[in-house]
Amino acid sequence: MLRQKEKELMRSIDSRKERIIEKLQTLIRYPTTTPGLGCKAEGQSYRSYQQDIQKTLEGLGFAVESWEIDAAKLETFWGSGVDPDRDLSNMPVVVGRREARKGGRSLLLNGHYDVVPPGELNAWSHDPFQADREESRIYGRGAADMKGGIAAMLSALELIDEAGVELKGELIFQSVPDEEGSTMGTLACCQKGYRADAALIPEPTDMKIQLALRGGVSGKITVFGRAGHADRTQPHFSEGGAVNAITKSMKVVQAFEELNEEWRLRPDKRHKYLDPDIVIPTLIHGGEWFVMYPEKVEIDFTTDFIPGTTDLWKELEEKIQAVAAADPWMKTRPPKLEQTDTLLYGAEVDEGEAIVSTAAEILEELGTPVELTGSGGLTDAVHLINYAKVPTISIGPHGSTAHMNDEHIEIDELVHLTKIMTLLILRWCGYS
Ligand SMILES: [Zn+2]
Repeated sequence: MLRQKEKELMRSIDSRKERIIEKLQTLIRYPTTTPGLGCKAEGQSYRSYQQDIQKTLEGLGFAVESWEIDAAKLETFWGSGVDPDRDLSNMPVVVGRREARKGGRSLLLNGHYDVVPPGELNAWSHDPFQADREESRIYGRGAADMKGGIAAMLSALELIDEAGVELKGELIFQSVPDEEGSTMGTLACCQKGYRADAALIPEPTDMKIQLALRGGVSGKITVFGRAGHADRTQPHFSEGGAVNAITKSMKVVQAFEELNEEWRLRPDKRHKYLDPDIVIPTLIHGGEWFVMYPEKVEIDFTTDFIPGTTDLWKELEEKIQAVAAADPWMKTRPPKLEQTDTLLYGAEVDEGEAIVSTAAEILEELGTPVELTGSGGLTDAVHLINYAKVPTISIGPHGSTAHMNDEHIEIDELVHLTKIMTLLILRWCGYS
């Protein structure tokens, strides 16, 4: 049940709706797009955004540290996702810390300020960086993923402060870059030693409590054939005949399907909140000329896997080896398997963690259906959970327009989220 002070705060959130909206609009108007692969951040928007956050945090009594990440200096390990060549300059990290006043539990609030590029501007009915308000919504890149959640967190902190409520526990606020590119922003914070009793990342989760995430890695497999005239009868390959790489590549695609079917049924690949491991061929290139036996086929693929899977790559290798061993040609020219991006592990928080029950209790009291969920994709939570050992949950707005044209957030949801954040901070850290 809401206590008197909490009820007052909930009412003040309703009356300050316009200020919460303005906060979000300010954040959206910094075009902090994630640099493409091989590119670096250009322009002032990243620094300006972070200066804005820093100023807000300092106004709330946080001690703020800001730095640029040198990716090559990060510690790497299985699943770290570190890409030492990625240039993260011009995208500073800002971390604010406000010490415990009376020894309550500490809470870490984390939000990535990079947003995916807007794509085709003509396909938007609103400028992606103007933060237009139309009827019940605010439009703009990042409205859902995840400047809406960040605006709610900052508004919650300001409202608590203005109401003169003193929190007992320590607060850490991390404003990080490049979640959409690499997750190295949060990893850098973890490697600097920031820890707390629990963490919240308001990524879009359709207002559900997200506590599990699948890991992922992408790769490429090259299947070899032997060139030859397609209009001539070819002798057997052992007598020098041509071999069709396209035909052979079908065995690899078939093998991926078999793996998916196996993973779908294997008990060790079952997860309460996540789909089982999966490998998906996503691009295929092959052949050289229309009357020639194709010499080579390249298949790009992507995978997702549950946190318990630590040997996905080995399983792929063994499957491909088995395919090659059963085919006389492929035995002599086995397909080549390569990793094409950094491997990032999955992560999960036990549903019995106190932060999960605290969040569930708050949702229930605010009349929001309580649902625990997992995510097929990754967020910065993986590093907080695995590396920093901080139980981390996400609760955020509806995300159906995240990464899409006309991304938006419902104003009612933004306000509701601010209430959730406010109560979570109050109840987790304790207050007097
Ligand atoms: Zn996000």
